[in-house]
Amino acid sequence: MSDGVDHSPHTAHRKHFLSDRVEHFTESVIRDMTRQAMLHGAVNLAQGFPDFPAPAEIKQAAQQAVAADLNQYAITWGAKNLRNAIARQMGVWQGIEVDPEKEITVCCGSTEAMISTLLAVCNPGDEVVIFEPFYENYGPDSVLSGAKPKFVKLRPPQTENGTWTFDENELRRAFDKHTKAIILNTPNNPTGKVFTREELELIRDLCLEFDVLAITDEIYEHILYDGAKHIAMVSLDGMRERTVTINGMSKTYSVTGWRVGWAVAAEKITNAIRKVHDFLTVGAPAPLQEAGAAALNLPAEYYAQLAGRYRERRDHLMPALTAAGFRCFRPQGAYYVMTDISAFAFDDEVAFARHLVAEIGIACVPGSSFYRHARDGARQVRFAFCKTPKTLDEAARRLEKLRGRVRLRTPG
Ligand code: GLN
Repeated sequence: MSDGVDHSPHTAHRKHFLSDRVEHFTESVIRDMTRQAMLHGAVNLAQGFPDFPAPAEIKQAAQQAVAADLNQYAITWGAKNLRNAIARQMGVWQGIEVDPEKEITVCCGSTEAMISTLLAVCNPGDEVVIFEPFYENYGPDSVLSGAKPKFVKLRPPQTENGTWTFDENELRRAFDKHTKAIILNTPNNPTGKVFTREELELIRDLCLEFDVLAITDEIYEHILYDGAKHIAMVSLDGMRERTVTINGMSKTYSVTGWRVGWAVAAEKITNAIRKVHDFLTVGAPAPLQEAGAAALNLPAEYYAQLAGRYRERRDHLMPALTAAGFRCFRPQGAYYVMTDISAFAFDDEVAFARHLVAEIGIACVPGSSFYRHARDGARQVRFAFCKTPKTLDEAARRLEKLRGRVRLRTPG
């Protein structure tokens, strides 16, 4: 037997112990790059997590909750304080009235909110529309829920300040009677695109025409640049009953390790999500949910400062990348910059990323992990800039070593 295990004659057709499902996706490249960064002592601009402290108020709130012995299970669909705070802020930020008792499920990060939602709404064979490049979780999420992803291309900007765009006809062609949902991530990882009202209305019209659910990942809601505005799909006419809005604490409050996220949806959909969530994880960490309620109480200045700091960091890293030979696609939101690496003498972006982490000492994410077909991402890598100025200085210093690898143009 090729796997070195003796099979019973009765079960020889089986792949020993493993499900077919797990063969259809690989481990996360993003998380693997973090391990590579540790192995090589590299500056980690791969996985999107901050290397600076979380706000003192919310750390104190977490400490107080542990000290006050809020250490047992919270209500499975979320601590009341946190659900109330989420509902209140949805009112403030999106103008949407949400019933915290019936329309919110708190999960172990928005990652769990997304997979619980897909498991709650998809039958095998249902199709889910996804813009590509996409945050890599959506691929395995679709496989695990039995849904078939249908990808619609986001095309990179042609000019320095342009934005990623999609073709309206290509999007329309992705919708048909098998389409159950569209996953929409705005502000977008990895491109930094912030979908405009016009684009969202176009998507809304297709959702209404084909009776499709919008599942939106809005985890970068507050990280916006250059006057870009976040518009929540749920706030558009006709979408209140057919949108699942996913968000969480990780990016807004710089606590990616806490694993507190949520899904907001109409009661019937919420009931289904709650069932899946309950049997998957029972609940998110109880004391950290209390701290979540405190986080959502932070004043408006907190959010302005967060976005302002990230803009500085974007403007710190991008010139260093450009000087080293990358073509940067300027993000309008989130905290990543996608780049084109055509100027470098490498066969593909995986070889490039390997060189970058092992020889230059910087970890990035190879573009192929954001595309269904590796070749589509073969000229791109993504950098995260959610790092201290000191870390970004060090990255800039190391990038100088890369200049020698720029492809020499052949004359003529
Ligand atoms: N969203 C982050 C990224 O794209 C990572 C999230 C995660 O690893 N769970 O890098």
